[in-house]
Amino acid sequence: MPEGRTAASGNRDVSGSSFATNASLLARRTKAVPRGVAHATNIYAARAENAELWDVEGRRFIDFAGGIAVLNTGHRHPKVLAAVQRQLERFTHTAFQVVAYESYVELAERLNAVAPFAGPAKTLLLTTGAEAIENAVKIARASTGRSAIIAFAGGFHGRTMMAMALTGKVAPYKRQFGVLPGEVYHLPFPIAHHGVSVSDTLKALSALFKVDVEPSQVAAITVEPVQGEGGFYVAPKELLSELRRISDEHGILLISDEVQTGFGRTGKMFGIEHFGVEPDLLTMAKSLAGGFPLSGVLGKAEIMDAVDAGGLGGTYAGSPIACAAALAVLDIIENENLLDRANQIGFKIKSALEIFAARRDMAPIAAIRGLGAMVGFEVVRSHGGFQPGPDATKRVTAAALDQGLILLSCGIHNNTIRILVPLTVEDAVLAEGLSKLGEALKAGASPMIAS
Ligand code: PMP
Repeated sequence: MPEGRTAASGNRDVSGSSFATNASLLARRTKAVPRGVAHATNIYAARAENAELWDVEGRRFIDFAGGIAVLNTGHRHPKVLAAVQRQLERFTHTAFQVVAYESYVELAERLNAVAPFAGPAKTLLLTTGAEAIENAVKIARASTGRSAIIAFAGGFHGRTMMAMALTGKVAPYKRQFGVLPGEVYHLPFPIAHHGVSVSDTLKALSALFKVDVEPSQVAAITVEPVQGEGGFYVAPKELLSELRRISDEHGILLISDEVQTGFGRTGKMFGIEHFGVEPDLLTMAKSLAGGFPLSGVLGKAEIMDAVDAGGLGGTYAGSPIACAAALAVLDIIENENLLDRANQIGFKIKSALEIFAARRDMAPIAAIRGLGAMVGFEVVRSHGGFQPGPDATKRVTAAALDQGLILLSCGIHNNTIRILVPLTVEDAVLAEGLSKLGEALKAGASPMIAS
């Protein structure tokens, strides 16, 4: 456990007096919270440190979910806490549009300095990932004077109206919610082992331009360099280069959605840097502020300035507390060499997974993939095949929780397991987590599929 972190224990409720159990909290939650908010686990958090979490019953878990990619710098990094504490003592909110503060400006400067494109950059700060996407679309529309946006099947961009329209998965994200914003078009995302090639995607794009929308009406193409919720599929380099070329040809803007791939997760500051392709706009959130709500749009300065004064912003957008946290996060990524660390962690995870893939006493897994520490694999029906095993996937994540490991699944076939362990995880905790994963794969194997 690094200096500044303390062991956690916790099995009391908020009042500190009576004991709350996971079951009693679930019963209260069921009455108080709408069922539309799903739960990946049935545990309730008491405390957390770096890559470990303790529930209200005092049970310890290793956290391979990282609050869905928010905790690249771990739970409660001491430097993030210190920065937030300092900010709490000065002021907590002014609304940047009313009384501005240096930390917003400094954070914008620092993000502009790491922009993955040439030329001057500007940054707009917001609060959530969906809000970042919404604003990237607004900026792209203002800058081009066009409306249409192209996105990808399996892509996930959030739960607000436009972000939901861009998201490429109907259930559970888009059904039940009536008419979605128009002028959104989806292309198939190339996944070789599921039978979709880059050439299929590009053919679909030229068909789209003939059938549905002229390229001159398209404001932007939005793409995740590695699909997150969609299944941790790495975009083929050829796809991104072609999207860049086609965008340039038609005056379309390229938006890289880095909400899940950002801030060192893939071994680079932003995922797009792996591909030698420069986006015009980039959306970020999640690990930007180490557990505090903050998001942003980083883009080419002349594009970012297309919107008139008052068209962008938000009451809490760029909260001073979150800005303080984010400045600390950027320092931590640099000082603790988290980009290198992401590659080391990814190598360790992939090596363990290769061993698990060869085991006949574990649930069959395939298609181990990812960049840096953004690693995913598929639970399949038989060794050597690619037929998705969503039921076995559920058994594995449930068994992992029994073993004391928080593990998330994702993917259009609900059979990808994704690993988003903090990049600050101690070697011993990572090794322990991987061994729990092995146990979960054993427990998740049914006699039928293990043979
Ligand atoms: N874009 C991507 C790539 C995401 O992974 C997510 C969240 N999973 C979002 C956007 C939406 O972010 P938020 O939940 O903060 O609105």
